[in-house]
Amino acid sequence: MFSGLGPLTVEDVVDEGERIWVRARTPEGPAACPGCGAETTRVHGYHLRTVADVPVDGRRVVVRVRVRRLVCPTRGCRHTFREQVPGVLERYQRRTARLTRQVKAVVKELAGRAGARLLAILAVGLSRHTALRALLRIPLPTGRVPRVIGVDDFALRRRHRYATVVIDAETHERIDVLPDRTVGTLEAWLRAHPGVEVVCRDGSATYAEAIRRALPEAVHVADRWHLWHNLCEAALSEVKAPSSCWATALDAPLYDGPRVRTTLERWHQVHDLIDKGVGTACSNAHAVSNWP
Ligand SMILES: [Zn+2]
Repeated sequence: MFSGLGPLTVEDVVDEGERIWVRARTPEGPAACPGCGAETTRVHGYHLRTVADVPVDGRRVVVRVRVRRLVCPTRGCRHTFREQVPGVLERYQRRTARLTRQVKAVVKELAGRAGARLLAILAVGLSRHTALRALLRIPLPTGRVPRVIGVDDFALRRRHRYATVVIDAETHERIDVLPDRTVGTLEAWLRAHPGVEVVCRDGSATYAEAIRRALPEAVHVADRWHLWHNLCEAALSEVKAPSSCWATALDAPLYDGPRVRTTLERWHQVHDLIDKGVGTACSNAHAVSNWP
């Protein structure tokens, strides 16, 4: 059960029902000074660290570890230092390394509230803010810069804030996320990541300008989604433009079918009721009188 605490000496385990307390200490052996590397066993004092460990049987496990503060034997080096237990207790962390690994695995899939809710079920109590902090602490992979990239914007808050996502256009892996969609930001990113030869982009002038400035030699490719999207919109507006003229010329409804007939019937019913003076609230009457 406590195999993950191997480097510590477990002294006592107390079952408190909802919570299991583990009392442990670091072994007596020598520890190396982080400043000079000299080993020492000379104890200056002790202090307690309380950290959460992986739950057992749906119950929280709290480990209280007695950690030594040791005296560095090297003259001129730091006077004392606190010993570390790598792989078990990381500096400044309130969870054991193995619990942190599990938390990170969850928040990587479900950030924020969803992650916090799932972790609560797994008996790891943690706020959504802590879940987000755990997510932000996961180091980003630093891969090679692909030859063909795709850039596109997405809304962080629709109509207010947008960001830019950069993907590897061949593997569809996400490479980076830029905080906005301005020329300067993408230009700076392209300059900092040399090696890009082809850029797939939307039709906006912003990205085109950034690419022209940073990579004058690069090939611009209109990405398929935007090509189709723009084509469909253009075709639709072409079709829609003369439809009112046709309707007048034909002196009959241009569209026909059961749905059109139902709408017309409702329109007549509503207007018959209005003509009979059936009252509605002011705003509703207004809405009804504008019925198509
Ligand atoms: Zn030292």
